[in-house]
Amino acid sequence: MSAIAGTTEATLLSGTELARSIRANIGVEVAQLKERYDGFTPKLTVIQVGCQEDSSLYIRMKKRAAESAGMSFQLISLAEAVTEAELLNEICCQNEDPSVHGILVQMPLPKHIDERNITDSVKPEKDVDAFHSLNVAKLAKNENPTFISCTPKGCMELLKISGLDSLEGKHAVVLGRSNIVGRPMAYLLEHHHCTVTHCHSKTKHIEEHVRRGDIVIAACGQPKFVQASWIKPGAVVIDVGINYVPDASRKSGKRLVGDVDFDNVRKVAGAVTPVPGGVGPLTVACLLQNTLAAAQEALAAIEGTWKLNHLPLKLLRPVPSDIAIASAQRPWPISSIAENIGILDFELDIYGKYKGKVSLSILERLKHRKDGKYVVVTGITPTPLGEGKSTTTIGLVQALSAHCHKDTFACVRQPSQGPTFGIKGGAAGGGYSQVIPMDDFNLHLTGDIHAIGAANNLLAAAIDARMFHESTQKDEALYRRLVPIKNGGRSFAPIQIKRLEKLGISERNPDALSEDERRRFSRLDIDPDTITWRRVVDVNDRMLRNITVGQGPSEKGRIRETGFDITVASEIMAILALSSDLADMRERLGKMVGAASKSKEAVTADDIGITGALAVLMKDAIRPTLMQTLEGSPVFVHAGPFANIAHGNSSIVCDRVALKLVGEDGFVITEAGFGSDIGMEKFFNIKCRSSGLVPDCVVLVCTVRALKMHGGGPPVSAGKPLSPEYLEENLELLEKGCSNLTKHISIARKFGVPVVVAVNGFSSDTAAEVNLIKRKAVEAGAFDAVPCTHWADGGAGAKLLAETVDRAIASQPTDFKFLYSVEKSIAEKIEIIAKEVYGADGIDISPEAAKQIEFYNAQGYDKLPICMAKTQYSISHDPTLKGAPTGFTVPIREVRASIGAGFLYPLLGTMSTMPGLPTRPCFVDVDIDPVTEEITGLF
Ligand code: NAP
Repeated sequence: MSAIAGTTEATLLSGTELARSIRANIGVEVAQLKERYDGFTPKLTVIQVGCQEDSSLYIRMKKRAAESAGMSFQLISLAEAVTEAELLNEICCQNEDPSVHGILVQMPLPKHIDERNITDSVKPEKDVDAFHSLNVAKLAKNENPTFISCTPKGCMELLKISGLDSLEGKHAVVLGRSNIVGRPMAYLLEHHHCTVTHCHSKTKHIEEHVRRGDIVIAACGQPKFVQASWIKPGAVVIDVGINYVPDASRKSGKRLVGDVDFDNVRKVAGAVTPVPGGVGPLTVACLLQNTLAAAQEALAAIEGTWKLNHLPLKLLRPVPSDIAIASAQRPWPISSIAENIGILDFELDIYGKYKGKVSLSILERLKHRKDGKYVVVTGITPTPLGEGKSTTTIGLVQALSAHCHKDTFACVRQPSQGPTFGIKGGAAGGGYSQVIPMDDFNLHLTGDIHAIGAANNLLAAAIDARMFHESTQKDEALYRRLVPIKNGGRSFAPIQIKRLEKLGISERNPDALSEDERRRFSRLDIDPDTITWRRVVDVNDRMLRNITVGQGPSEKGRIRETGFDITVASEIMAILALSSDLADMRERLGKMVGAASKSKEAVTADDIGITGALAVLMKDAIRPTLMQTLEGSPVFVHAGPFANIAHGNSSIVCDRVALKLVGEDGFVITEAGFGSDIGMEKFFNIKCRSSGLVPDCVVLVCTVRALKMHGGGPPVSAGKPLSPEYLEENLELLEKGCSNLTKHISIARKFGVPVVVAVNGFSSDTAAEVNLIKRKAVEAGAFDAVPCTHWADGGAGAKLLAETVDRAIASQPTDFKFLYSVEKSIAEKIEIIAKEVYGADGIDISPEAAKQIEFYNAQGYDKLPICMAKTQYSISHDPTLKGAPTGFTVPIREVRASIGAGFLYPLLGTMSTMPGLPTRPCFVDVDIDPVTEEITGLF
């Protein structure tokens, strides 16, 4: 390859050919990415300010090259007069767009814009031009920059094919010291162990320097500047220059030449690049290389595992109160948790220091990632003291995450403030297995429950107001007010068009509707006796259970009886929990039925025209709230529908986001309310049916105490000391009570999912009692039963449970199936649940329920799943029947509908949807230190 002066011409280093082969390789890699990641496409955004002819030409070349390699290309053209702030704002949007992998701001920029501000605003990981100070500094320090500027990178590619055996020890001369070419080039050569002479316009006797060069890089923007006589025979000459010189023989009147006197230099040099066809094509190819690398990095970041730093626990004995434990632990700022588990900063809206809402857009960014393992925690039939399901959920997450080093998320429900200040107290777990800060968790959190209250009550007000207005106005006046003249004409709002569609009215010109059409459009004709929509408040306020509204004189005697429910009983809460995204939530909100018309037609939120407003009130609530456990593992807190009249599970969206964030080898632990006969049955038949997610394992929580109660032990009640049977070993009572455990195991097994029993330990439990539970559980088909002490020991106390869950999933693949098809009749579906889950002989449908079923059939609501509303204190409908009762018939008193949420709910007993406060409510203990703001008394 070396050339001897005057005898052999230098080897021509064809950038065109080299670039073609680099681009072809990139094309192959892009195609592989697309195939492997379901259409994933690297994307380059170029931002151009003004429309300089040269810049436009370069951009067209970049676009052609990117598209021919299978990449996606976006050009954002901004006017010459764009302000720096507007340009920065555009770059910010591109930085935040996860579909954009590379950003290039085409230089030069107009004088009024500071180039450094602009290049430094591009995120270093998207800075494919490598102009960000961080990338520049890293190159200068030889510290592995994310990207190397495209032209110098292209020169290095050319040096690879120049015939030089190695760069080490060679003398390299670089002409030009711009930040784009000369300076990075000199650094690169020096990093490759060349001895570099760096020349510029002030260099004296430049030819003497050039003559010493084994390698000459000419980047000074001076046409044909480097002469043949300056070149050391056999040297490699890379000509970066792009200069136009006048040429009358060309149609354009000009000709492109480099910084090197090519015709003469090629007679002396060993290898030389032509212009055009040398460095230019390589610059574009290297831009594609950088964009591909940026896209691969973005994928790698998605695929990677977490970098969580777990919080150590300082275990005290005796175990202090929940709030004392929670207050003693300093949580990580939520932004730090988010960053360490792969949530990008723009995907997190921070509420204070320790809570943040996560945007659902993350699902699109992570769509290529495989879901983690999905575990539901349920329980046996509890005593009124509760058997520690939430505590076990959090303990298991702490164990998997901090002690087994698996990426693990907890998904739990947001508690209502009713129980927090009423009888039960908080619901953040307990002991050393809690969600923190527990006061935030138990109180307002991020306002979702308040948003639900606002939306629910807006609809309630709208129903009453609409009845009032319909009753006080004639048809035409009503119509004119509903479709008023605005800007000289009438038009229907989009939501009103939905009503026209429902009524089968095709006319869209408000003035062209017939008198009858106007009447039908305007009159919902609500029958006040059919109104099921009640107002809500997040307080246990028994005096609001039944109220009379409309007593003000201005309501002109339109008085009716209604009532308040607690907010978490609102259908909107169930909708929040079952929606898959904002669009789905809006659709469901529109379908909510608040009443029926006098002609027995369902009146929906869409009919009232309120759907959009409700969705607006709920727009933040749809995003799950990120918190953490005592040991610093992530927790999603989202939605908290009642577990009796609704389905009692946290939201589908939080499970879906968590499953993506943990990835294939991780775990998501979600909790279902009450026993397996309630929350778990609804988790499978309602939540999983709606989400399409398939669970991998059931963790069934039991206590020795509750099993003894099922075996005939004395009643257990809150605030009263436990009888000795519960504090001493009693294998006989326990063995009898295991009938309840084995029944719950059989219920879970009906769905084809492996079951691990967690024996939530108390200090009074004996080894013989735990062994008995283990034997009974395995005989009934559980994978295993293990004791856990997470309440006293944190995650370490649930390590055995975590390992057992992992083993169960690995060795017993799920064969998940629903219990019934929604195509069956309403009565058949109810009967299947009663017989298969509760163990009943059959069902007894009351005449009122039969009438309601008939109405739902007529309205086309019969293909919905069933959400049984029943007691949590027995597997049957009767709270006094303990163990695993048989020989009973389930009475179906009423069947109600939550059409928006998407289920029918039969009432098996009297369900309170507004709890009351006891004589000594929990709030008596709650207080705040006005100086330190420390909260006391939350349990
Ligand atoms: P630049 O920003 O104008 O910098 C030119 C550099 O050359 C400066 O450092 C300057 O020194 C030095 N210089 C000017 N006259 C000189 C002389 N007589 N003797 C020694 N040094 C001299 O240009 P650039 O952006 O680096 O680009 C350089 C050339 O490469 C231009 O022709 C440009 O069009 C071309 N280019 C090509 C590609 C490609 O893809 N092929 C990409 C980028 C640039 P001072 O610092 O002392 O002023």
